[in-house]
Amino acid sequence: MGRKTRKNLSTDQLEKVRLALLDHLSRLLPNNSERREFVEKMSSPIPITLRINPLSAQADRLRQVCNFNGSGVPWSQDVFLLDGNKDRIGPTFEHLLGGFYIQAKAATLAVSVLDPRPGEQVLDLAAAPGGKSTQIAGTMENKGVLLANEPNSRRMSSLIGNLERCGVYNCVVTQTSGARLARYFHNHFDRVLLDAPCSGDGILRKNQHVLSYWSTADAVYKSQQQIGLARAAFHMLRPGGTMVYSTCSLSTEENEDVLLALSNTYQSCIEIIPVDQSVVGPPLPASVAANYPDSFRGAARVWPHHHDTEGAFVARIRKTEPTKWKAVDIANENCTKHIPTNTSSTTEPLDYLRRIEKHWNVEVLLPDDITVTASPKNLDVRPQRWKNYAKLAFYIRCGLKIASIHKGHPYLTHQAAVLWGANIGMRRLPICWSDVQALFAGEKITPENVANLRGEVLLTYGPWPITTGLVHSTGHVSGFLPKSLRMSGICRLCDWENCAKNYQSP
Ligand code: SAM
Repeated sequence: MGRKTRKNLSTDQLEKVRLALLDHLSRLLPNNSERREFVEKMSSPIPITLRINPLSAQADRLRQVCNFNGSGVPWSQDVFLLDGNKDRIGPTFEHLLGGFYIQAKAATLAVSVLDPRPGEQVLDLAAAPGGKSTQIAGTMENKGVLLANEPNSRRMSSLIGNLERCGVYNCVVTQTSGARLARYFHNHFDRVLLDAPCSGDGILRKNQHVLSYWSTADAVYKSQQQIGLARAAFHMLRPGGTMVYSTCSLSTEENEDVLLALSNTYQSCIEIIPVDQSVVGPPLPASVAANYPDSFRGAARVWPHHHDTEGAFVARIRKTEPTKWKAVDIANENCTKHIPTNTSSTTEPLDYLRRIEKHWNVEVLLPDDITVTASPKNLDVRPQRWKNYAKLAFYIRCGLKIASIHKGHPYLTHQAAVLWGANIGMRRLPICWSDVQALFAGEKITPENVANLRGEVLLTYGPWPITTGLVHSTGHVSGFLPKSLRMSGICRLCDWENCAKNYQSP
């Protein structure tokens, strides 16, 4: 009862659920005109929002393009509502190369409120598909350690794909439940995000499937799971640290009731820190708010009719004292993984890095707390403390592969080429738009200006490094775009060959 089971409902039944859901949420609005506006907005199409990835070398140019074609949001300089059609934004090469993430405006508030800083240790407890993890890593400037955890194996590839696409290398990925993770990390992280699994009542505008499993009983069932996760997340936060609890639900069951249970468990060591209310609202009606402590008024609800977006809830929590977790004998839990001894190769990792720098005439500047590791086949960049995490049984991976080593030569990966290509001074091969499209379609290209170039090259389009490639003796060029990025008929936000001069990097 109450579990998320998808039901095959008739159109009439779905309409009944829709009305019940809207009625359930409307009660949280202060007056009839607000309720009417909310219900109307929930049946209108949702605009496209994208968030610029600050780790992209093209972020400044993209901000200028988006400022020109759309409007910003109050809580972030990197989030834009764009005019146009989502089907034209997803398959743009700028998106596929990690220039931006397509993310609802409402969903971007949680990380703005979390405010992670470079060099910190941050946990994203429920991370897939990675919208907020990539946003956190961007705000951390790829410094420090981000632990992105996701228990669902089917959602792991989208999380890893998005981290790679966005050039994130300060991240460790684990796969376990929040409760299990809390047995290992006690009062540890500077910041913790719990973007909890929820009924999704706030995303009805985007996803009508919510109706096939939504019920008030499901919301209550979800809140029990959320309470358990919130306790685990709070325990893993260090005293003085900041936690954000967020959902894409507007209901009190999945939000205030969860905060109440958390506050009751950790009465003496929890504070709710208000979110700037000028960017959100309206507050709960007094009759509903009266059921909760006054401090809960500092939590934020993003209402779709106020911000033309989805619905979301964000609460900022501070921990004042250490907490205890139930004692568990982790020694019997097969908790440590064997780290293979051959993670090091005969060549020093930094020697490989110097070879890359010489081969491409590029200076690779890495943050102090990021290291380079070499195995016989791979060169990776990863957080210095990666071995502490790699021992965990549920460790999946960390960092970013920057080269494949073959016969002693480090071949730059696509991700590294995109990340550092703007500074590469040699072996650049500019290509035209139709060649970019052909590369994404998985075809070989024959650019006119190959001249004396042979072997490895960096294929560029305007200011954008597209990927690495190999020039054959025939003059054909094959590109090394990962298969996961290949698609026919890709689009572009901007004609970069001709308009790049309008959009300069400062
Ligand atoms: N933060 C993600 C983003 O921005 O892309 C979205 C997270 S989604 C709302 C909630 C996630 O919680 C799902 O991927 C789900 O698999 C995960 N989840 C479910 N049960 C969990 C548990 N017990 N511990 C941690 N995560 C859990």
